[in-house]
Amino acid sequence: MNVGFIGVGYMGRHMVKHIIKGGNKLTVYDIDSEATQEIQSLGASLAASPKEVAQSSEVIFTSLPKPQNVEEVFLGEGGILEGSADGATYFDLSTTDPLTLERMTIAAERKGVKVLDAPVSGGTLGAELGTLCIMVGGDKLAYEKFKPILDLMGTEVMYSGPSGSGAICKIANNLIGMTLGVVLSEAFSMGVKAGVDPDTLFKAISMSTGDTKAMKSYPETLFKGNFNPGFKLDLGAKDVGLATKIGRDLGIPMDISNLVQQKYIEAQNRGWGEQSTLAVAKLQEEKSDTKIRSKT
Ligand code: NAD
Repeated sequence: MNVGFIGVGYMGRHMVKHIIKGGNKLTVYDIDSEATQEIQSLGASLAASPKEVAQSSEVIFTSLPKPQNVEEVFLGEGGILEGSADGATYFDLSTTDPLTLERMTIAAERKGVKVLDAPVSGGTLGAELGTLCIMVGGDKLAYEKFKPILDLMGTEVMYSGPSGSGAICKIANNLIGMTLGVVLSEAFSMGVKAGVDPDTLFKAISMSTGDTKAMKSYPETLFKGNFNPGFKLDLGAKDVGLATKIGRDLGIPMDISNLVQQKYIEAQNRGWGEQSTLAVAKLQEEKSDTKIRSKT
């Protein structure tokens, strides 16, 4: 199948490899020309614009940082919609808000193009291993038609309902993940200052009710002071912001979530946006005068 892919950053660069391995003909585009070099060497064709990707693809995927990037790449000049044939299908694998997706869906309907939200969970490791969870909202027949391509990238591909429902699932999930990042930094700084080393705390919590995937990487990341992304703090902050905005729009009180959002904004203002989301813990380390680091 002719597949198009736009945005080959931390996530996209892994996902495209599975599409190629699945025997598909891939066309890629990224504003960062360095990002596409390795993928070209694997046999992908390089396009000069999102429009050109769409012109040569039956199905198009994007994995882009923020909703503004997604909307621009889809609806903007030289964008996907301009190049899409009648009946083409588009999946957004980014974490994007339902209102942006709705605007794109309405514009696409006029051209007979299907827009599905298909955000992913599982991090860069899940992208690399092809074990992502992919939550898909939108036209069910289009989902079923292209599920074999999604299955190349994820082992947990689920249909979540009408347009925007995949996005809502993903935003709810990331709100939890980002909130746990803040709570964990408080729990660990408390434990360390009280005299228990982080590895012992980790072992005890891992076998108890506090266990969570959100801390699985800690021995290799936080405990070593390693804040290399993976998942950039700027993107985690975006996701918390998408959640609290939906809450405000719908009149849902979200007391804790709004506090959590302030933490990520503060961390961004420290210049940590390009570091991993775990860098939010550094705020708590400063305030508690405690480093959450392994002794070894
Ligand atoms: P990233 O910033 O590493 O990659 C995005 C890529 O898009 C970059 O290569 C960038 O050059 C490219 N890009 C930006 N604007 C563009 C444009 N206008 N045209 C073409 N290319 C453009 O981000 P990422 O970590 O790969 O995340 C991508 C999406 O997936 C985000 O929405 C993020 O929230 C979501 N996500 C990320 C992770 C993770 O662990 N990194 C996990 C799940 C979901």
